[in-house]
Amino acid sequence: MKLDPHTMMVMIAGLSLMLSGLLALAGFHTRFVRGVGHWAAASFCISIGLGFSIMQLVPTTAGWWLVAGTALLAAGAGLQYVGIQAFMDKTPDWRIPLLVVGVMTTQTIWFVLIDFNSNARAIANSTVLAFISAVCARMLLVPASQPLRTAAWLTGASFAVLALDNLVRVLMIAFSPEHDYALYAQMPVNRMSFLVSSISQLCLGFGFVLMLNYRLADELQHLAAHDALTGAFNRRSLGDEAERLLARCSRVGEILTVMMIDVDHFKSINDRFGHAAGDEVLRRLAALVRETIRVGDYFARYGGEEFCILLPNTSEEQSGVLAERLRHGYSEMSLRFGEKLLQSTISIGVADSRHAGTDYSGLFAAADEALYRAKQQGRNRVEPYSAMQNPLLAAS
Ligand code: GH3
Ligand code: MG
Ligand code: MG
Repeated sequence: MKLDPHTMMVMIAGLSLMLSGLLALAGFHTRFVRGVGHWAAASFCISIGLGFSIMQLVPTTAGWWLVAGTALLAAGAGLQYVGIQAFMDKTPDWRIPLLVVGVMTTQTIWFVLIDFNSNARAIANSTVLAFISAVCARMLLVPASQPLRTAAWLTGASFAVLALDNLVRVLMIAFSPEHDYALYAQMPVNRMSFLVSSISQLCLGFGFVLMLNYRLADELQHLAAHDALTGAFNRRSLGDEAERLLARCSRVGEILTVMMIDVDHFKSINDRFGHAAGDEVLRRLAALVRETIRVGDYFARYGGEEFCILLPNTSEEQSGVLAERLRHGYSEMSLRFGEKLLQSTISIGVADSRHAGTDYSGLFAAADEALYRAKQQGRNRVEPYSAMQNPLLAAS
């Protein structure tokens, strides 16, 4: 295989420029995902840096083109690093890119303009690039939830290959210093190493695009499944989850409890304190529920000021304890709005599949019936559905 470094460089510079445009356009409409702008700028720097390195073929100004090209390649690597930090919602640490640019530019000036030594320059710069690529790989090759993991690991693997390629180059030069390892020197190993690093650069560019895509997919999924005001699951997700849990109940004979929660006299809270206060009450109630329920329980906003909790593998009696804790905790909570203090109560209806059956609408209707009874009985109370089946208790 005949690999021409000059042609490869022109091609990779062009592709990086296109990738930078793609990332810039993708990032323009997704400003809430951080880091994409950094990656677009990184690809741009790498593309221009390679372009400058091509200019080193002009003998009179070769050294300066090489220095500028190396500085831009270092800036590209540094921007990729801060882009990953921003994407992961960490505060970008600009010291690392500044260090990479500073070190690579200084050593290139030294080994090109002051004490010419192309092998020493290659060792010095490849070491820094191996270091920054390994750091980026380390940041991405961490446990993450799917689908983002696939994209992050693909990008991380590309960084790891890039780090390894630079490391192999360093070792090769260090152990056979008699050869000339400048990129344009006709050494097959130089061309192969450049090919590997170019392909890795492109792969990690695609990886960034994929990471953005999966982050958006994740965001969309979250929006479609959750209620914007309280962060609880929405009614659609609740329906899907209830169907899934009820199918399991029928299969393995497990009990499922449905708990319906409704804020008492919520309309009058809105009327007296304003709609914003009503919203805050709903958020506080949701936060209290999240603090109180167990890991496997499923909490959703049923609609308006009504919430629902699915409690797998839990009977009506066992859920009664949790319901009482919630009712009590909520009644103790007070919110201050200006001069006024707001305190309210909730009513809870509880039904389980043992008493109300494993039919979706039957079970929810039973919990709703229990809630209705709690309201009738004076509010601020927990009403189990089974008590209504027992005429003695129901009459009480
Ligand atoms: P009860 O004790 O019988 O439950 O009486 P209530 O006033 O709580 O019940 P009602 O169903 O009459 O009123 C519910 C109110 O909830 C009416 C509606 O304007 C209000 N509401 C529904 N969704 C929201 C919301 O997202 N934010 C706010 N602030 N109010 C909401
Ligand atoms: Mg209400
Ligand atoms: Mg209601």
